Amino acid sequence: MEMQFKPLVEKEEGQPIIIAGPCSAETEEQVLETAHGLKDQNVDFFRAGIWKPRTRPNSFEGVGKTGLPWLKRVKEETGLKVTTEVAKAEHVYECLKHGIDLLWLGARTTVSPFAVQEIADAMEGMDVPVLIKNPINPDLNLWIGAIERIYNAGIHRVGVIHRGFSLAGNSNYRNEPLWQIPIELKRRFPELKIICDNSHICGRRDTLADVAQKAFDLSFHGLMTETHPRPDEAWSDAKQQITPVIFKEMIDNLIIKREELDTEDLESIEALRVRIDAIDNQLMELLGNRMEVAESIGLYKKAKSISILQPVRWNEILEKAITKGNERGLSEEFITQFLKAIHQESINHQMEVTKPDMVKKR
Ligand code: PEP
Ligand code: MN
Repeated sequence: MEMQFKPLVEKEEGQPIIIAGPCSAETEEQVLETAHGLKDQNVDFFRAGIWKPRTRPNSFEGVGKTGLPWLKRVKEETGLKVTTEVAKAEHVYECLKHGIDLLWLGARTTVSPFAVQEIADAMEGMDVPVLIKNPINPDLNLWIGAIERIYNAGIHRVGVIHRGFSLAGNSNYRNEPLWQIPIELKRRFPELKIICDNSHICGRRDTLADVAQKAFDLSFHGLMTETHPRPDEAWSDAKQQITPVIFKEMIDNLIIKREELDTEDLESIEALRVRIDAIDNQLMELLGNRMEVAESIGLYKKAKSISILQPVRWNEILEKAITKGNERGLSEEFITQFLKAIHQESINHQMEVTKPDMVKKR
């Protein structure tokens, strides 16, 4: 099925979609104070979590539907459109009753096909734009599955929010951006608008601007940032929220590049693309050659009854490549991932050529 996405908002192409507001609606005053702080800042949607999916019980779980009239007041007083997260069918109905302009699915919902389907069924027949956050785990298909479920419910004003992925281990990020995943999503669905939620990626204030800039450098289409009048006192995600004033500073300093290329760009870019294509071709040739050599080694190992996996040799290859790659400005992480993939493919080729004849495919 080919999905044909419709624009989320009526906006000039190339203009970013900006979403800002507190992690959670806490009190009517806090919601209105934040909204008034944001109203003259080209914000397209005012966000506030009404129902908060929390990792553990007994944290603040949101004010619930009593907060919806507060969002209505935001619309009346500031003219801002409003958005909140829905995690159940009932949330969808409540939002619809209160005139919420845009709904989003949270990361903990996208992981669950049953939950997504329940929400999709509730949305059937509604004319509301929907944003789908990536699932907590780095699984592109799960993300795409959620997009398809919502789309199949007849919601065609669909976009996504990249909020990073939860990985084990220490990191500078609260949720690793793993930029290659949203980039691959963009490659598969060029029409799909991608919003960067720098707040949940960073989990802290000092790196928000860098991550936002990176997203725009990658031609993402918008930004969602948590803002609070007194961030340190926020009832949820205090460490990552910023005041509307700091938010304005961040937005004013962003360099947003054009996505479309004009003829002059195309001419100079075209020449560089030709070179990239040629290099990619060479890479494929070289990789093909490497596999042939690996196959010969496989046959030799078979004749001598040597096991295919030779960890000492593999470590040697890795170390040499890291040293060489570092000289050329390639990161250790990249070289390791790249070589691991090549090594796995070599092992597959060796296994294939050394299979007993009865089961050998070629
Ligand atoms: C949020 O936006 O406040 C939120 C709960 O985000 P996520 O679903 O990305 O964790
Ligand atoms: Mn939050």
